[in-house]
Amino acid sequence: MISLKKAQQQTRDLINRGFDRHIRLAITGLSGAGKTALITGMLEQVLNGYDAKQLAFWQVKHSGRLLGSRLIENRDWSTPRFAYEEAIKVLTSAQPSWPSSTRDVSEIRFEIKYQPRSGVAKHLMDERRLVVELVDYPGEWLLDLPLLQSHYGAWSVQQNQLNQQGERANHFASWYQHARSQLKSESVSDTTLRELAQGYQQALKSAQAAGFYNLQPGRHLLPGQLEGAPVMGFFPWPFSDQNSAQFEHLKRVFERYKEDVIKPFYKNHFQGFNRQVILVDVLTALEHGKARFDELIETLTGLLNSFEYGENALLRRIISPAIDKVALVASKVDHVGPDGQHALNQLLSDMLRRSRQHFQFERIEHELFAVAGIATSKAGRLNDGTIVLDGYLESGQKVRVGAPSVPAQLPNDKQWQTGFEFPQFVPHFSAADSPLPHIRLDQLLEYLLGDKLK
Ligand code: GDP
Repeated sequence: MISLKKAQQQTRDLINRGFDRHIRLAITGLSGAGKTALITGMLEQVLNGYDAKQLAFWQVKHSGRLLGSRLIENRDWSTPRFAYEEAIKVLTSAQPSWPSSTRDVSEIRFEIKYQPRSGVAKHLMDERRLVVELVDYPGEWLLDLPLLQSHYGAWSVQQNQLNQQGERANHFASWYQHARSQLKSESVSDTTLRELAQGYQQALKSAQAAGFYNLQPGRHLLPGQLEGAPVMGFFPWPFSDQNSAQFEHLKRVFERYKEDVIKPFYKNHFQGFNRQVILVDVLTALEHGKARFDELIETLTGLLNSFEYGENALLRRIISPAIDKVALVASKVDHVGPDGQHALNQLLSDMLRRSRQHFQFERIEHELFAVAGIATSKAGRLNDGTIVLDGYLESGQKVRVGAPSVPAQLPNDKQWQTGFEFPQFVPHFSAADSPLPHIRLDQLLEYLLGDKLK
């Protein structure tokens, strides 16, 4: 005879199959946007957020319906697992530091057990489960999507123009000079082509380190497992005359790059995404000045456009994503006070105006947030009303600084002339501080998961 426990499990399985029990969430952002810290913070709260007061906006927790959460094995064994435990270890070690940033794709999966709020399920069983998969990958790889619509000749012309503009030229001028002298001769060895490709990669990285964002091919910035692979062996053709054997060779590599690198990335990792976080480090872009800040806006707009969520999207030709919610998130807001966080939210809204209009048109649900995955400062108010931030500097010194102000709209010329500077606090935690402090992750969790936890 079938046991009672087994019968209950079967009932549960049947019911679970009828409900939507799975979320695949992509964490998207350019290098340094704070993806690693955000995922670490989200897991920290989901797995260890014992105090409902700290997660006041996460309904399932706040209403006492959360029965428990745990990490579970990834579905895909060939994709590395996100290094959550290591991240916590370095954040809480004797000399705490930030965990290593995203350099390749990784995934991590957790399961939430909860009591339904109401409805049929409440009567049939006392618990439900939601499985959430977080996918971390370098946002730079998304910069390659428009390449699918481009041809090597046209792409080269476009990149050559871009690389000669303003301060960008400082990072590319010597590469162009060298490439032109090398490619002039009739026969160019494979070794020379390889070296030129590596040289171009270095120029891209140098521009990135100086705060530029619009850099292609994106995979050359963070090659992951493809470092040194023949398919990475191309660069923009530096002459206007495109008639040569070398041009034809590079054109073939470019086409292979589209087929063997860009398309599989989308096919393997984007299929099945249903929600997305777009993380933006607005504060660093402000510090870098107007030119870089404007380039970030252009890059994000291009990235979100090419990523299109709508019916005619380029992506739709490769896969059929069904993203139903997007969270647009300003990161690292522990560097400013509560007013600054509010302003950052509005500023991000201004920066992404064009993309938001597009979301609206396509009826993609989206919302803006200002969060800190791991908060390194504590805001306070002095008797005279001044808002201050307490935190630790790199030197280990504890400091108190006045909360810096943040423009709530795109800055004007005067503000750019004055410039922006924000304090740089570092982690100062021990294992006893778990769950590590955050800012507004509960609101983000509620937005991303709340509707599935009712
Ligand atoms: P990724 O490249 O998007 O994975 O970026 P990371 O998460 O590694 O963040 C890059 C750097 O930004 C970190 O090493 C930290 O210095 C800083 N950072 C990221 N998130 C936060 C945060 O929530 N608060 C603070 N204060 N700094 C952060």
